[in-house]
Amino acid sequence: HEFSTPTISTPVPHVPDDLTLPQFFLDFPHPARPVRPQGVPCLIEDHSGRPIGFDELKYRCSGLANALSIKWNIGEGDVVCLFSPNHVDYPVSIWATHRIGAIVTPANPGYTADELVHQLSTTKAAVVLCFVEFLPTALAAAKVVGLSPDRIAVIEASASSPYKGKHETLSKLVEFGANKPPNYVERKLRPGEAKTKVAFYCFSSGTTGKPKAVIIPHYSFTANILQTAAHYAITDPTVKKKHMNPGDVAVGVLPFFHIYGLVVVLHYMLFSGVTLVVVPKFNFTQFLESVTKYKITHLFLVPPQIVLLCKHPATKKHDLSRVKFVVSGAAPLSGELLTGLRKLLPDAAIGQGYGMTETCTTVAILGGRQSMSTPGAAGQIIPGVVARVVRPDGTLCKEGEQGELVVTGPSMALGYLNNEVATKESFVDGWVRTGDEVIIRNSEVFVVDRLKEIIKVKGFQVAPAELEGHLLLHPTVSDACVVGIPDDYAGEIPLAYVVLNEASSKRVAGKPTEGEKIKAELMKYVADNKIAYKRLAGGVVFTDAIPKNASGKILRRVLRDKAKKEHGGE
Ligand code: AMP
Repeated sequence: HEFSTPTISTPVPHVPDDLTLPQFFLDFPHPARPVRPQGVPCLIEDHSGRPIGFDELKYRCSGLANALSIKWNIGEGDVVCLFSPNHVDYPVSIWATHRIGAIVTPANPGYTADELVHQLSTTKAAVVLCFVEFLPTALAAAKVVGLSPDRIAVIEASASSPYKGKHETLSKLVEFGANKPPNYVERKLRPGEAKTKVAFYCFSSGTTGKPKAVIIPHYSFTANILQTAAHYAITDPTVKKKHMNPGDVAVGVLPFFHIYGLVVVLHYMLFSGVTLVVVPKFNFTQFLESVTKYKITHLFLVPPQIVLLCKHPATKKHDLSRVKFVVSGAAPLSGELLTGLRKLLPDAAIGQGYGMTETCTTVAILGGRQSMSTPGAAGQIIPGVVARVVRPDGTLCKEGEQGELVVTGPSMALGYLNNEVATKESFVDGWVRTGDEVIIRNSEVFVVDRLKEIIKVKGFQVAPAELEGHLLLHPTVSDACVVGIPDDYAGEIPLAYVVLNEASSKRVAGKPTEGEKIKAELMKYVADNKIAYKRLAGGVVFTDAIPKNASGKILRRVLRDKAKKEHGGE
């Protein structure tokens, strides 16, 4: 009963198994890859309008690779942490690292020092490439993990950046490396080696527990790009033009440190000949101005941004007439919002993409055989992905029956770094358990519910286990359980059920104001130590006990359903 979706009969183009990403993107042509016409830039820096061409990317990539090798002896298997918002040097930093056989771990620049420490220590990063504004966090984190401050290089906002510090700047490193004889031998791969040679450690908490480093090899990444290309190339008789053509212009506002921004936006645009306008920070009115100014044709967004497009009065004041393709991903988009956006952009192809870090993103996306997605559908399964929907007892569902989505294909990640238990739970005999409850109809995936514990706030993962571990360190708390409750804008927001310890229980007994004080303290305690989207925006609720099973595992579902009923407006 495997779903032989129509896409599976579509051949996936040959995925090279002996190329690193820079070789695939910069050195060798591929039959599925459109030719970028002369003069069509790869990237445009949003604030300055500066275009960046292919030759410049290639030059900077070689220069930086050489500098990383000379300055810090970075090479085979070393890890470089990229701690930056979207920037035109993002692909340069990635490919330079890969050229010398090293691995990139992209980190959210909004992280607090503690959060960055977790990533640096898990991956044992040897160098941090840090956007200037976030240097204090990088320095604080580096100190904790024992990384010398002179192993932090600074990515500048612009040539006129006020930064005059002691650290190397990326641009200087590029020039330094470009003017020195090569100190490194380009990392080449034996046939088949791309399947195991690691390209990225991207963070995800998977089905349970704290964020973990997902091991993504070069091959998985290249495969997902070529699978997507094959998907878009499937001809729908109702589509007169291709979905994407060289010379189109897309907006790169989704963060490149997240798998969606990294693969679907940054790398797919670089592959497809589309020019990507690189936007470091989302600001809705500036975003609308950029869409008009650069005549943006392709939008890659998350649901809260679609909420703004549909509801914010500024939308009507801007010319969005060039937009012809919109993808919403990373979290569910309601059928109502999709319909609302179709009214706003009647000529555009609009739909969702669905995927996860563990599958190196896209499992399903709009635009294959059927150009119009059904409202509520998270996308159509792309060529090369084989999908199963399974019941809780492990048996396969019938078509149209609801169950957990389990997928395989050439883009699957290899597991979690140094975490065999979690790897065994999610990666089973070459299949990835998504932890999402779905229905598949005509190869369209409908995400009905989430079985795994993560909360998605504006498309970002929040791991309840991380917040629970943090709350347990607070002097008033004896137990805690964090769940997501629905929110119109963010999709979900975290709410904490907290059991107070004896002393604090006595303190609040009969004194509601004391209770409110502790709640405010706990909210601040999270806000002070965690990135903004992890805040307990859903509030804190005191409870007598956290429901658990006989072996002490939290019965999360019980509290999630209770929270939805009491706080989710249902
Ligand atoms: P991440 O690894 O951060 O990309 O998170 C992957 C998870 O995000 C998936 O397993 C889903 O739970 C959720 N997700 C991604 N795309 C969608 C979508 N289009 N609809 C519903 N949930 C989604």
